[in-house]
Amino acid sequence: MKNVVVLGSTGSIGTSTIKVAEDLPDHVRLVGLAAGNNTELLVEQSRKFQPEAVSIGNPDRAAALREMLGASSRVCAGAEGLIELATLPSADIVLIAIVGTAGLQPALAAIRAGKDIAIASKEILVMAGEIVMREAQRSGVRVLAVDSEHSAITQCLGDNPMSSVRRLWLTASGGPFRNTPRSEFDRITMAQALRHPSWVMGTKITIDSATLFNKGLEMIEARWLFGLEMDQVQVVVHPQSVVHSMVEFVDGSILAQLSTPDMCLPIQYALTYPDRVPSGRVRTNLAQIGSLTFQEPDSDRFPAMALARHAGEVGGTLPAVLNAANEVAVALFCEGRLTFPQISAHVAAVMDRHEVVAHPTLDRILEADAWARRQTA
Ligand code: NDP
Repeated sequence: MKNVVVLGSTGSIGTSTIKVAEDLPDHVRLVGLAAGNNTELLVEQSRKFQPEAVSIGNPDRAAALREMLGASSRVCAGAEGLIELATLPSADIVLIAIVGTAGLQPALAAIRAGKDIAIASKEILVMAGEIVMREAQRSGVRVLAVDSEHSAITQCLGDNPMSSVRRLWLTASGGPFRNTPRSEFDRITMAQALRHPSWVMGTKITIDSATLFNKGLEMIEARWLFGLEMDQVQVVVHPQSVVHSMVEFVDGSILAQLSTPDMCLPIQYALTYPDRVPSGRVRTNLAQIGSLTFQEPDSDRFPAMALARHAGEVGGTLPAVLNAANEVAVALFCEGRLTFPQISAHVAAVMDRHEVVAHPTLDRILEADAWARRQTA
């Protein structure tokens, strides 16, 4: 039985984690749940699972939450609330599924408190991969992947040493504009960008999947999670999203992990790791799927991956700048103030202006993040 804290329990990953907890009552006990604004769903989840503590992002809603929950769960709020939950003495593992940068400090707090962390929020490793992995090693805790691609790689690696790996192959669905000509990109609307062919996800990551920034962020995430150089992390477009990623070993052998796309599978694997426990939720019928296809990503139409590769290679504060600039640009696109191609163009322009700090402290990373947000806005 693992005692689990979920930060972002009301989101797409959060609600899938709730399903996993429902599937596995003998393996997963939810001891802490944190949401941003959705008090109603947080109350519903809390009544069902009776966690020790809950936290709400907006402190103005804490009093109402206390009234609704009575004495059943301690109610915390704001950034401190996330830290309190991340360090809950009874927690074994903290799953972080908050959009944006708000998950970084709780991730570090959890690590320092000796908790394993399961990371959905890729921003954490993109911004501060060096610091997070160093602190995790120092504290002797695991950093587990929730992203389906990184979970796939963990599963393919098994006990093989990293010295046996030639490169990793992250698969990308290609998003809704895989076959859209560049000449139509200026007219792409938010509604079109939100129509992802394979996955139902939160707004930010769905737009990132359309620009392929998501894959770029995942490349940097993979580099830190598995301790490789950027040029060992490659991407191949695979529209069916059945092969979740692959490891190519030094002898030329490639191992892949397959299933129909369902985030409950990687979430469950992270929460029960290193064990596999039975679940009937995911069934894959390969005969019905019929064919699996692969193609090169198109870097002309989707410059985001090259920007991310450059940021990952340069390192220092540049990945944090890429991430923050992209977050603001996506928000501006959603407000109708930028066109789809301008998202990547703005990120590139802000990256160009940045003076990189090598091996930055957390404070320098947060400064770079704030600077990039101001510049992009
Ligand atoms: P959603 O937008 O669906 O959910 C975000 C969650 O974070 C919500 O529960 C929201 O609360 C909560 N939240 C936001 N800000 C705060 C805050 N300050 N304090 C506490 N809670 C907060 O996003 P997703 O679930 O899609 O994505 C979450 C992360 O996981 C992202 O980093 C994404 O890149 C990553 N990821 C997502 C995948 C997916 O399939 N969705 C796959 C792989 C990675 P509320 O709704 O109550 O405001």
